[in-house]
Amino acid sequence: MMQDCVFCKIVKKEIPAEIIYEDEYVMAFKDIHPAAPVHLLLIPKKHIPTFFDLTDEDISIIGRVQLAAARVAQKLNLEDKGFRLVSNCKGDAGQLIFHIHYHLLGGRTLQWPPG
Ligand code: AMP
Ligand code: ZN
Repeated sequence: MMQDCVFCKIVKKEIPAEIIYEDEYVMAFKDIHPAAPVHLLLIPKKHIPTFFDLTDEDISIIGRVQLAAARVAQKLNLEDKGFRLVSNCKGDAGQLIFHIHYHLLGGRTLQWPPG
């Protein structure tokens, strides 16, 4: 439910987060359990539980999230060394919060493939 969604509460500023970037459609904030020196979450402000819930009208929103990831990464000086942008979708991937989000990880060498 949207009312119970942690990330919707962050969008509405009902719970605190370290917000790094925000516009009309997108928000980026620090992950509370960082797995790398840079670990942000990028979300559409619109509540969309998983990729399976996307429709044609969301195409530009998802594009904006990815563009914001690139801009934020530039601002954090990750352009030379790079970063990883990943999203977990449902159980096997370990999705815990059912509001689409991308993890932006950087600031160290990352292993591939993930576990
Ligand atoms: P996942 O759904 O598997 O992509 O994981 C959700 C991510 O959200 C985890 O990395 C959590 O540490 C992070 N997280 C959960 N609650 C918050 C919060 N209130 N503020 C920031 N990050 C959070
Ligand atoms: Zn939500």
